[in-house]
Amino acid sequence: MGGGSLANGASIFTARDCQAQGDAERTVWLADDTKVSAGVKAECRICGNRIDNREYTVREMMFGLRHTFPYFECSQCGCLQIATIPTDMGAYYPPGYYSFKPASPPPEPRRTLRDRLRVLRDRFVMSRRGVLGRLLFKIYPRNELLPFLVPVRLRTSSRILDVGSGSGLLLLQLRALGFKRLLGVDPFIDHDIHYPSGVTVRKSTVFDVPEEWDLIMFHHAFEHMSEPLETLKRCARMLAPGGCCLLRIPTVSSYAWEHYRTNWVQLDAPRHFFLYSIRALELLSARAGFKIADVVYDSSGFQFWASEQYVRDVPLVSENSCWNRSSSPTFSESDILKFDEQAKVLNSSRRGDQAAFYLVKNASNCSSL
Ligand SMILES: [Zn+2]
Repeated sequence: MGGGSLANGASIFTARDCQAQGDAERTVWLADDTKVSAGVKAECRICGNRIDNREYTVREMMFGLRHTFPYFECSQCGCLQIATIPTDMGAYYPPGYYSFKPASPPPEPRRTLRDRLRVLRDRFVMSRRGVLGRLLFKIYPRNELLPFLVPVRLRTSSRILDVGSGSGLLLLQLRALGFKRLLGVDPFIDHDIHYPSGVTVRKSTVFDVPEEWDLIMFHHAFEHMSEPLETLKRCARMLAPGGCCLLRIPTVSSYAWEHYRTNWVQLDAPRHFFLYSIRALELLSARAGFKIADVVYDSSGFQFWASEQYVRDVPLVSENSCWNRSSSPTFSESDILKFDEQAKVLNSSRRGDQAAFYLVKNASNCSSL
């Protein structure tokens, strides 16, 4: 009788083995309470594979609801995905969901000479343009400002669409730096938002936006979307020549997924429908007409302290969570600093649990990458 083997040495039967014997399905449980089901099961929505996908049961732990959801990891492309999308996702985005909180515009940037100089310096960091900004940057270097946008080399005239923007905090930060052609879309906000600074966030999806854009960005939103291929194809049609599509997402091609498995905080069932591997994202991008021009890992100590809390059955939003750092009995400030240092090491070896993917259309070059 034929069979396969997993990295941990457990034997499995393949679907082909089972079909050859007339078995409809055969399941082998592994030591860590996950299972590999051989037989015709759910189809990977990225590559179409149905064979030898590994199943997991994952709990909702952000709010501590502890509802369980089946996920499976594709044996071919490595994408981890929810087996069935719940019909009522609204229940998992309560009014207190963090990205929906009303955004406070940053302080008016042009009040003092110091503020004006800071804007010039920060604008140079974003666009690498401006003589005075360049000089100020040399004297007062600072790289932490929206670092994921630095590789894109924006101009203040760039047209920027933020998909899944929540209430639009990032757009307000860009507005404060002088960017004007900004729009956010998010289907889960209560209603359209119009800020006094001119920034608008529409209660809609990327499919409702007609304009052309230089940068279309998803900040931890793409993994929440049920139609990733159609979404990327739509972006490819909306990007201006030389434009860039930025995906900031968690990835299973990481230490945290391999170490924590169903307690990995960024699995975030059931809100995250897809946890992409590098291979899965390459496949998806290619099918949408993109290529990945660059990947920058930007994980933090969050992957450690929050996953460790899940191991201890402590929800992310709870009294004992480091989410409320001042009152956390689990980890001290010094512990968290150590976790942040460990994350930097993972990022430098491309093993962090989240990254920024810079996509450009095939046969074109992003102006900045
Ligand atoms: Zn797959």
